[in-house]
Amino acid sequence: MTAEIISGKSVAEAIRAELKQEVVELKAKQGIQPGLATVLVGDNPASVSYVTAKGKGCEEIGIASFQHTLPGDISEADLMKLVNKLNQDAKVNGILVQLPLPKHINENKILYAIDPNKDVDGFHPVNVGRLVIGEDLFPPCTPAGIQELIVRSGTPTKGAELVVVGRSNIVGKPIAIMMLQKKPNANATVTICHTGSRNMKEHTLRADILIVAAGAPKAVTADMVKPGATVIDVGVNRIGTAESGKAKLAGDVDFDAVKEVAAKITPVPGGVGPMTITMLLRNTVRASRLHAK
Ligand code: NAP
Repeated sequence: MTAEIISGKSVAEAIRAELKQEVVELKAKQGIQPGLATVLVGDNPASVSYVTAKGKGCEEIGIASFQHTLPGDISEADLMKLVNKLNQDAKVNGILVQLPLPKHINENKILYAIDPNKDVDGFHPVNVGRLVIGEDLFPPCTPAGIQELIVRSGTPTKGAELVVVGRSNIVGKPIAIMMLQKKPNANATVTICHTGSRNMKEHTLRADILIVAAGAPKAVTADMVKPGATVIDVGVNRIGTAESGKAKLAGDVDFDAVKEVAAKITPVPGGVGPMTITMLLRNTVRASRLHAK
């Protein structure tokens, strides 16, 4: 039987509708206006389009958006001054510095200067630490989106064998940590695979939930998937040009073959992708509640 497709687009739309309502109530009942500051350095086309999408997302759900566009040759000191100013600005609940930054700027120095209580991307070491001890304030956006997709697809997580392929700091490690917490929507038995893993298939074949964040097309093929599994494909790979002239995208999973084995699967595009910005908006609303206290 062909797998049910988990539509990230639909789940993201549902969560944005919930957030929009939450913002209406926050404004009406408590006078809280959530605000997100984005900082874009230079004119990298991918970064420009991400920041534009974040601004549109804010507008859609009623978050005030403060967009700072800076020249690519700005000094590290001047960028730091802006971050410090945003840290102090009461109208700003969340700060997002779009990566990558130009090579002459120390990315970590800038990210670590963001007030952890405004770090809605969840990358600050203080927030990584909070995540590990299960007291997370702002779960990082892509992993948070993955968890929502698993839960809203009706896949049980408690006691599930969950295998993550990939151990990056932005996807693999945090999602593994989130899913092993002794909490609702988690509590899984977690295994992490990577390029050093011996016989990865032995692990993936045991997975009730398989999360693939390798950045390699067809890193997971049908023979590596347990029948009936839920498969979350995080990968975004450009594999040529579509008829439209745009880049053709593929995930890390051999989708056509794996959908005949799995019970549920996310597509690429339209799976994890639409969830990431939605989780950023959710973290910003969460930050506005925190700051109002
Ligand atoms: P990354 O930093 O390159 O990490 C990839 C990880 O996968 C590494 O740990 C690597 O192992 C492992 N790996 C690579 N090929 C493998 C293979 N054949 N078998 C087993 N493990 C393998 O990538 P990332 O930042 O986590 O991103 C992963 C993918 O997700 C990329 O395609 C990226 O574009 C996509 N992504 C999508 C979103 C979204 O919003 N949709 C967000 C973030 C990332 P080693 O550690 O041993 O090298």
